[in-house]
Amino acid sequence: MMERFEPTPEQREVGALAREIAEREIAPHIAHWDRTHHFPRELYTKLNAAGLMGLTIDERYGGAGADYLSYALAIEELARVDAGTAVTLSVHLMIAAAIGRLGTDEQQAEYLPRLGTGDVIAGFALTEPGAGSDAAALLSTARRDGDHFVLNGRKQWCTNGAYAGVTMAMFRTGSAESKGISAFLIDHSLPGIVVEKTTEKLGIHTSNTVDLAFDDMRVPASALLGAEGTGLSNALGALTTGRIGIASQAVGILAACLDASVKFAKEREAFGKPIGAFEGVSFKIAQMATDLDAARLLVYRAAALCDLGLPFAIEASKAKLFASSAARRHAAEAVQIHGGYGYTTEFPVERYYRDAKITEIYEGTSEIQQLIIARSLLGRL
Ligand SMILES: Cc1cc2nc3c(=O)[nH]c(=O)nc-3n(C[C@H](O)[C@H](O)[C@H](O)COP(=O)(O)OP(=O)(O)OC[C@H]3O[C@@H](n4cnc5c(N)ncnc54)[C@H](O)[C@@H]3O)c2cc1C
Repeated sequence: MMERFEPTPEQREVGALAREIAEREIAPHIAHWDRTHHFPRELYTKLNAAGLMGLTIDERYGGAGADYLSYALAIEELARVDAGTAVTLSVHLMIAAAIGRLGTDEQQAEYLPRLGTGDVIAGFALTEPGAGSDAAALLSTARRDGDHFVLNGRKQWCTNGAYAGVTMAMFRTGSAESKGISAFLIDHSLPGIVVEKTTEKLGIHTSNTVDLAFDDMRVPASALLGAEGTGLSNALGALTTGRIGIASQAVGILAACLDASVKFAKEREAFGKPIGAFEGVSFKIAQMATDLDAARLLVYRAAALCDLGLPFAIEASKAKLFASSAARRHAAEAVQIHGGYGYTTEFPVERYYRDAKITEIYEGTSEIQQLIIARSLLGRL
């Protein structure tokens, strides 16, 4: 079984392609984009030219039809240079996958070709001011009105929200329980949806995060994604593949921490030696490299199971739980290894430190991953 988790040369090529683009198109600009909180919309045209915007989209719709192990390698390589770009693409492809899985022929034909070229970017809107981990508590409503629904409410912290052409958004269509929630594909060209607030964040400054307000927005009934009443389970299903993306994002940040730390530990001297000669520094690097390998293997396993059509939800939760914690801990160690320089913007490790934290929060906090893993062992006690 283990060999199934080892990427093939073709899968590694996808990672190499993402690395080349990230080095060429992102690395020279990232410090400036981070400082100015710039969402590089033009970058996504370049990612499209390399086939990355449609990486996992079916070839029937012009995508590259790649599998999730290839996707994990691509997200890791982007995150190694910029975690913000990585999450933009990860969320975009998560929605494309949901449309591919749940959408009608018409919805697939309408959106997938445009998502595949990056002409349209996709977003996801589940969270509300009063409903995060407890997503079933959401209050936004979709009221049936003939062959339309009328949407009202507010969605919080929507990744890609201000640049999205389509958002998968969950609204209450029925009772106050989880079965009363439905998913919709919201076309941003229709009136009634407003970007209410852009959120200032600790890190991932190239990722766009906004609140969306829906004020009597009328959408055709054909905007329903999946059957009425299945919106929550479909949203949580989408997040399961999304977690492979966030775990890969964490792996990429961790890999960047290791590269920077090794380089610095060889170059910086103290007490007449490179600091890497001191065990206090070299052992941190040894642990970083070990946790990076462990995190990667967990991600590869989750992705490979997904590609084989086998259950992978628990493995995706374990990969995200472990990789995000490792990224956050080792980003702090990378700053420590750099000493005072690590705290300045002259070196990128302060950015890795700021970017790493979010991987423990979005697409299910670490506590929610622990809950999922524990329930798989203990049941609902
Ligand atoms: C930058 C950013 C981008 C985001 N992008 C999106 C997006 O695109 N779309 C979207 O819908 N949402 C998005 N989110 C929202 C994100 O998914 C939520 O923040 C996350 O799910 C946690 O919800 P919360 O913030 O409401 O925390 P809460 O649910 O209020 O949790 C607060 C704390 O309590 C803990 N907790 C809660 N319940 C339990 C429990 N049962 N057991 C143990 N501990 C528990 C949590 O782990 C956490 O530590 C984004 C958030 C951020 C910050």
